[in-house]
Amino acid sequence: RIGTAALAVQVVGSNWPKPHYTLLVTGLCRFQILQLLKEKPYPVAEVQQLDRLEQFTNGHKSEEELGELSEQFYKYAVQLVEMLDMSVPAVAKLRRLLDNLPREALPDILTSIIRTTNQEKLQILDAVRLEERFKMTIPLLVRQIEGLKLLQKTRKSKQDDDKRIVAIRPNRRITHGSITEDEEEEEDHDDVVMLEKKIRTSSMSEQALKVCLKEIKRLKKMPQSMPEYALTRNYLELMVELPWNKSTKDRLEIRAARIVLDNDHYAMEKLKKRVLEYLAVRQLKNNLKGPILCFVGPPGVGKTSVGRSIAKTLGREFHRIALGGVCDQSDIRGHRRTYVGSMPGRIINGLKTVGVNNPVFLLDEVDKLAKSLQGDPAAALLEVLDPEQNHSFTDHYLNVAFDLSQVLFIATANTTATIPPALLDRMEVIQVPGYTQEEKIEIAHRHLIPKQLELHGLTPQQIQIPQVTTLGIITRYTREAGVRALDRKLGAICRAVAVKVAEGQHKEAKPDRAEVGEGEDCKEHITEDAKPESISDTADLALPPEMPILIDFHALKDILGPPMYDMEVSERLNQPGVAIGLAWTPLGGEIMFVEASRMEGEGQLTLTGQLGDVMKESAHLAISWLRSNAKRYQLTNASGSFDLLDNTDIHLHFPAGAVTKDGPSAGVTIVTCLASLFSGRLVCSDVAMTGEITLRGLVLPVGGIKDKVLAAHRAGLKRIIIPQRNEKDLEELAAPVRQELTFVLAACLDEVLNAAFDGGFAVKARLEHLNSKL
Ligand code: ADP
Repeated sequence: RIGTAALAVQVVGSNWPKPHYTLLVTGLCRFQILQLLKEKPYPVAEVQQLDRLEQFTNGHKSEEELGELSEQFYKYAVQLVEMLDMSVPAVAKLRRLLDNLPREALPDILTSIIRTTNQEKLQILDAVRLEERFKMTIPLLVRQIEGLKLLQKTRKSKQDDDKRIVAIRPNRRITHGSITEDEEEEEDHDDVVMLEKKIRTSSMSEQALKVCLKEIKRLKKMPQSMPEYALTRNYLELMVELPWNKSTKDRLEIRAARIVLDNDHYAMEKLKKRVLEYLAVRQLKNNLKGPILCFVGPPGVGKTSVGRSIAKTLGREFHRIALGGVCDQSDIRGHRRTYVGSMPGRIINGLKTVGVNNPVFLLDEVDKLAKSLQGDPAAALLEVLDPEQNHSFTDHYLNVAFDLSQVLFIATANTTATIPPALLDRMEVIQVPGYTQEEKIEIAHRHLIPKQLELHGLTPQQIQIPQVTTLGIITRYTREAGVRALDRKLGAICRAVAVKVAEGQHKEAKPDRAEVGEGEDCKEHITEDAKPESISDTADLALPPEMPILIDFHALKDILGPPMYDMEVSERLNQPGVAIGLAWTPLGGEIMFVEASRMEGEGQLTLTGQLGDVMKESAHLAISWLRSNAKRYQLTNASGSFDLLDNTDIHLHFPAGAVTKDGPSAGVTIVTCLASLFSGRLVCSDVAMTGEITLRGLVLPVGGIKDKVLAAHRAGLKRIIIPQRNEKDLEELAAPVRQELTFVLAACLDEVLNAAFDGGFAVKARLEHLNSKL
């Protein structure tokens, strides 16, 4: 029935999301309820004030005893406060309070400051007699002093003074009264103090530190139930975690780097050379504001894995940021903190993940960034990739600058066509073309097969894949510039073999009765024939397979099914009006059949196969050139007229009609195809061609020669017609490929036609013309 009279000084709080108010009161005195007058709407009672302070000091009997008690109490209190860190303002103020306040008030104040349970606090409040109050509080003070002593001892050994501050409450709580609070809240409060400590000891920039201290000040005043509390706290935690000044030490040695690159990757000499140059310059000049490297090439040629190797050679952390399909600029730059669910962008997130400020960031698929209503992520990347600007990259979420200049950025793309020009301008493009068959075989045997074996728990003693089989997989089961499908097929083979091996082990452990009798014969039979054992054989015989399991064509068919690609080229060229062109796509080079047919009509040209405008123009150019040269080559339409379109319609088709095609490089192919149609002669079945044409019959250079040639080589073609001015591009080709192919360098269309037809396509004499009509 004893309570405290108090004066409400401040009321703070809100009704949202749930009612939560904090009351700041100043205690006045204790009182006792004599009689309850009414209970509703709020209790009203007649009370009696209990502690009249003068009453105790005015010449009381026990004054002496009390004086002793209060002196003792004062000493303990001073001892306790002096154990704390006096440089903290709150402590200094408390020290002053001890001297200035009347001694009688001290038990109440100190009880509310030191660590006590609610129960203990209530007991002190219930103690009306001052003497009793002193007696009860002294043990609490002693307990706190002992606790602190213990803490200091452990701290000395740990050199950790984080907890020094726990005994102090912030200023505002030192009031002459009591504020009840949960233990949990206290813990949270300690967390905030710890967070502040972390902020102060972290190595963040001055600007960031200022922002953080401001935020933590706000956080302390905020009730925890406010949604902003969690938001601010997350923000501060991220700020503390970011590697402002933490970096790994580069261990760069060019010779070692060369070895790592060579060990990890076969071929790709040009790329490796450029990467080594880049690393060498970095070694000589540490703070290189160098260009951003961008590897451009078809999928599966090892762009990502070279990036990983670079990180390995430098001894840096590696982080891949997939940009494919990113269409929101906040993905790069983060959301402002005012949004619900806001978070930092991928760059800052990446830095938090790796924990150092100088990782290798691989920006994968920069060509697949998209634009949308949420802004243009490519524009946001501009700042990230510009060495002049990125030392003060500002993420919207952080809202303070972060220095990205130590980060090594590498980008990858399939094509430069869809990279915004401004972004492309900041990067140095290194083309990574596809591989030849020979290179693929080497890559498979040096890297892919050992990797797959390890993945599937197999050893070379259990499975053997000869080079001819690898070649078989490359030519018949895959048609790609890179090695990713090849890798998958090898994986499929390993899985199939793993089943056999596991089954074999099982059977060896406990052989069937049936096997014991017949098995012997079968084994003998196999060794007699000395035939390599294929998967299908072992499946039929209920026997453990003989090790190593040899993967031959037979086994290949069993595991991968019938071949997916055939050498169909020659079959398709058995009638006039078909020619093979070479196309470049982001996925590597491809061969492309161009088909033409003519029919009676009104001189119209129909084009199908989803062609772009440039391609359509090429077709018109080709027809015009042929019409103007019809007489020279004795080309006639069905009715024998030199006007090729007279009463004739022409239909040109580019198969794979679902894929959009554009570009000028099909010009020579269309001319050859139409020349074949109008002359009735077959184009050689092993010739492929590429080149742009002009109205006067010149052949102009085109791009992507290496990829195109590799595609022709993959398809088993032998002769390739390319524009003369592309001759320099042939130097990039591997010697074995160059040896297997014949190149015809054409400067004009006459030369193209001569090379495309067996026996040439010479300007014909009248007699020959008559012959051909027969
Ligand atoms: P990309 O990023 O170009 O699409 P990846 O880097 O993911 O391709 O490469 C696919 C796989 O092919 C990886 O497992 C990689 O190790 C392997 N690979 C590609 N090129 C080579 C090479 N020259 N030497 C060894 N392995 C290679």
